[in-house]
Amino acid sequence: MFQKVLIANRGEIALRILRACKELGIQTVAVHSTADANAMHVRLADESVCIGPPAAKDSYLNIPSIMAACEITGADAVHPGYGFLSENARFAKILTEHNVTFIGPSAHHIEIMGDKITAKKTAVELGIPVVPGSAGAVESDEEAIKTAREIGYPVLIKATAGGGGRGMKVALTEADVLIAWSTARSEAKAAFGNDSVYMEKYLGKPRHIEVQVMGDGQGNAVHLGVRDCSLQRRHQKVWEEAGGPTIAPEERDRIGEICAAAMRKLSYSGAGTIEFLYENGEFYFIEMNTRLQVEHPVTERITGIDIVYEQIRVASGEKLSMTQEQVQFYGHAIEVRINAEDPQTFAPSPGTITFYHPAGGVGVRVDSAVYQGYKIPPYYDSLIGKLIVYGRTRDECLHRLRRAVDEFVIDGIKTTLPLFQRLIREPDILAGNYDIHWLEKYLAENKV
Ligand code: ADP
Repeated sequence: MFQKVLIANRGEIALRILRACKELGIQTVAVHSTADANAMHVRLADESVCIGPPAAKDSYLNIPSIMAACEITGADAVHPGYGFLSENARFAKILTEHNVTFIGPSAHHIEIMGDKITAKKTAVELGIPVVPGSAGAVESDEEAIKTAREIGYPVLIKATAGGGGRGMKVALTEADVLIAWSTARSEAKAAFGNDSVYMEKYLGKPRHIEVQVMGDGQGNAVHLGVRDCSLQRRHQKVWEEAGGPTIAPEERDRIGEICAAAMRKLSYSGAGTIEFLYENGEFYFIEMNTRLQVEHPVTERITGIDIVYEQIRVASGEKLSMTQEQVQFYGHAIEVRINAEDPQTFAPSPGTITFYHPAGGVGVRVDSAVYQGYKIPPYYDSLIGKLIVYGRTRDECLHRLRRAVDEFVIDGIKTTLPLFQRLIREPDILAGNYDIHWLEKYLAENKV
């Protein structure tokens, strides 16, 4: 097992990883930008190193600085969390070359899943069902028209290097396809420095269902069930459920086993999430994330498995601590993402938290790194906390979530808590009757 883990991240996820290390008796090193000197992960770590100025490119994305921090502190492993360098194959390679373990999959697995066209090809080879679409990049006007005709309208044009929902354009008819193709290309070029795009059938009313997998790089892999993350705004998840309102246990096990078998074939190591759109009883692969996800706590809650603990274990060379038969599912869990944002305009709302009272009580978990008096810096993602609630049934979970959201107080800044106070009273949400477009429509129709 590792002696000392450097946590190359900030905010709630840095704290989440730090907690797992403490429970395993591993020393922790926090790294931080000058803007995060007072952050909770810095305060609670055994050691901390300042790695640069506020801008992420100069600190949390600054590989030489992080390597220097490893060297100075003698860390023997790095946990990248999510975002920042978590899916950077080059970073994983450099660490390995310096005899520091990257707590995550191999650079090769990060690479094949990082590029979406390669990921889709790999998925097909592994027997994972995919969205019908172009075989590779769509390179010309003629090819765009021809491919769209073959797939059938509406079609979606997506950036190969995509992420965060950027570089995606829908074409409803042949009249839109060339414009959609060229705008997707220029958006992709601007956002990712790569204008390669591909085409998929655009699904009208799908749900976003994802499978959590864990492998040990020694040929063992399991699935930890599915999460429903259909409530999204601008392709960003807002509310996630495990235990799923739509997916029956047999369906969960069927798609879960397809994914686990694929991971066994790859000899995948660490945590991963295979994302699907789900429509009319069919699953369609869209991408795989080769890292820990923001929404991992809902899976932890219904399985009792500590995913970060497992990540650290397998990275240190141990086998998975469970077999598929030992993975059991209990009840229902929901996570809502508390962002420092105006709940109507979603404009970021950094500033000082003047009063903080997190929800508590039976079945409630709060993953956050903020505290009363904490000043949220304006430089990073606006996620400041996650409220995770459990119930034996989805109904019990919803009642508890309503109680917990009403109880939560964060003053001094604007947060998305009022949005959840409204959502938790919406009949469609209570009935589990929503797809990936529901929230956008709701927000457009219900200006408060
Ligand atoms: P990103 O990496 O940018 O997040 P994804 O491929 O994961 O891109 O897609 C993000 C979201 O875009 C999905 O959760 C879904 O809401 C929507 N989406 C992606 N592909 C399709 C599709 N073929 N049809 C309809 N919606 C899609």
